[in-house]
Amino acid sequence: MIEICSIASGSNGNCYYIGNETDAVVIDCGIYFRSLLTRAEHAGIDVKKIRAVLISHEHSDHVRGVKTMAKRLNLPVYFMPKTYEKTYKRHRPDYYKALSTEEPVEIFGFYVHTFKKYHDASDPVSFRVEYQGVNVGVMTDIGVADVTLCREFSKCQAVFLESNYDEEMLKNGPYPQYLKDRVASNVGHLSNSQAFALVRDFSNENLKHIIFSHISQENNTSEKVLEKFSSFKDKYSMYIAPRFNPSEKLFI
Ligand SMILES: [Zn+2]
Ligand SMILES: [Zn+2]
Repeated sequence: MIEICSIASGSNGNCYYIGNETDAVVIDCGIYFRSLLTRAEHAGIDVKKIRAVLISHEHSDHVRGVKTMAKRLNLPVYFMPKTYEKTYKRHRPDYYKALSTEEPVEIFGFYVHTFKKYHDASDPVSFRVEYQGVNVGVMTDIGVADVTLCREFSKCQAVFLESNYDEEMLKNGPYPQYLKDRVASNVGHLSNSQAFALVRDFSNENLKHIIFSHISQENNTSEKVLEKFSSFKDKYSMYIAPRFNPSEKLFI
């Protein structure tokens, strides 16, 4: 059995936890280490179980706390090579391990599959973490649901899935036009409708949990997301990953 938890989600910081009884991996650390500790304690997560951090891309809401976290917990951090270079232009830390989209990395029995995504960063990736036949997707910061994402999503029993914005709210919202265009572009974020189409067309019969993630504060609401997905409410257990708190822990 594995447990998953969103420790932080959204433009203030992202951090997603996937663990078993003894070991765990974390995707991204976009919050400060002290806040990670507080939230982990709040969620009932023992940070000593964490064996590695894997980074999806270099935007600060995904890497802000990783340096301190790696140092304090003595962890390896996995990056795509270009992401590592972009994250640390100088004084590159030595905890780096290279990710590849060619083959999964194995970390204490967790097989982490890495695949490219469309987003405005140097070499952004999403992940599918496989542990004893259970697959958990971490799929946020995606401009478009391409063939690879659809294929990887269709293997998941649980997924942290971006549902960033409601189209109408973005259109009529406070962002300047260039930012609206960026969010809605193929290298921006996944809208509620795009996430909905992905779930409708590509979920497999074993999909159990959907944790809606990276929800915009200005261009979306939890209610809008849950309303969009209301036709699935008897089929999946669905949650909203909170921005400033950990989600509840889910078991698969
Ligand atoms: Zn982000
Ligand atoms: Zn990003």
